[in-house]
Amino acid sequence: MPADPDCIFCKIVAGDLPSTTIAETERAIAFMDINPGTRGHALVIPREHSRDLLEIAPDDLAACASLAQEIAGRAKDRLGADGVNLLNCCGADAWQTVFHFHLHVIPRYKDQPEKD
Ligand code: 5GP
Ligand code: ZN
Repeated sequence: MPADPDCIFCKIVAGDLPSTTIAETERAIAFMDINPGTRGHALVIPREHSRDLLEIAPDDLAACASLAQEIAGRAKDRLGADGVNLLNCCGADAWQTVFHFHLHVIPRYKDQPEKD
């Protein structure tokens, strides 16, 4: 699906909106969440616009899952996370607020249940 001119994550993919990118592949990119729930909270998105879990192409979903796995590993190795939550919100009633598919990678720390 072509980039949506009104989509903030498409703008991040295009470089028209700044973001702290932490990893990139052919199909997906990972960047820091602007309002992190915990230290190291990242988002993984497909480069191609798709609205949500029900719309994303299987290859893009697989690419996002694979990149999220790498970011989760980094959270443990580099940030000292004790655990990681992987989260997707699909639909406004499931708390989705940005309608470009994304996986949240949320590091968890034994001693820090909230962000710094
Ligand atoms: P959702 O509620 O749709 O699952 O999550 C959307 C996430 O996108 C939120 O955690 C929010 O903080 C993040 N977010 C919204 N706008 C921006 C932005 O412009 N840049 C970045 N890096 N994150 C954003
Ligand atoms: Zn988009």
